[in-house]
Amino acid sequence: MKLILLGAPGAGKGTQAEVISQHLNIPTISTGNIIREALKSGTEMGMKAKEYMDSGKLVPDDVVIGIIKDRLAQDDCSNGFILDGFPRTIPQAEALDRMGIVIDKVIDIEVADETIARRVSGRRVCPACGASYHVDYKRPAVEGVCDKCGDTLVQRKDDHPDTVRERLHVYHEQTEPLKSYYAAQGKLTIVEGQEEVADTTRLTLAAVEA
Ligand code: ADP
Ligand code: ZN
Repeated sequence: MKLILLGAPGAGKGTQAEVISQHLNIPTISTGNIIREALKSGTEMGMKAKEYMDSGKLVPDDVVIGIIKDRLAQDDCSNGFILDGFPRTIPQAEALDRMGIVIDKVIDIEVADETIARRVSGRRVCPACGASYHVDYKRPAVEGVCDKCGDTLVQRKDDHPDTVRERLHVYHEQTEPLKSYYAAQGKLTIVEGQEEVADTTRLTLAAVEA
């Protein structure tokens, strides 16, 4: 199964991607995580992406399209995959179509902007393995420590309030049009994000299996 998860920054795409990934045994491809990895290893691509990312802007299409092309060509993607954070613009979706990749389903997780702002401020991430937590909704077993690898959790620079406002603006302007793009292809299912993560998960898995 080839799936796309759509939704505003902080809507919970990453969390849902993880559940579906285990359920269907297919990898999650997160462009955000790939870019952050590149940044950590100090590659040229990473350095270029940094200023866009830190200011809440999108990294240029040609950069992310290149990343996705390479990543989807790897062996573990042959039985399907979940795209988390790609496409984020119409040209990125068109590039995917041009690569001959036929997406089965697009699940859009809808969360109100006010809720997003509140959630994102509580998000904490693991700089080592990319795992994501929340101070209220998804706490690690030991406060401030990654369950998976034991590293110290941090707040992403782009999760600070001003940057979040910019990211929401960019989302509405550039990413939200993808809903009509995929609705026109008959692939879109909308999931209303719930207060409890487990409730959203139930709805998301139902959408995957529908
Ligand atoms: P979130 O889903 O919480 O916004 P991500 O980790 O997916 O966070 O993305 C963080 C940042 O990485 C984005 O704000 C953007 O700068 C960059 N990025 C990730 N994916 C893309 C993409 N498909 N196109 C352009 N920029 C991207
Ligand atoms: Zn970790």
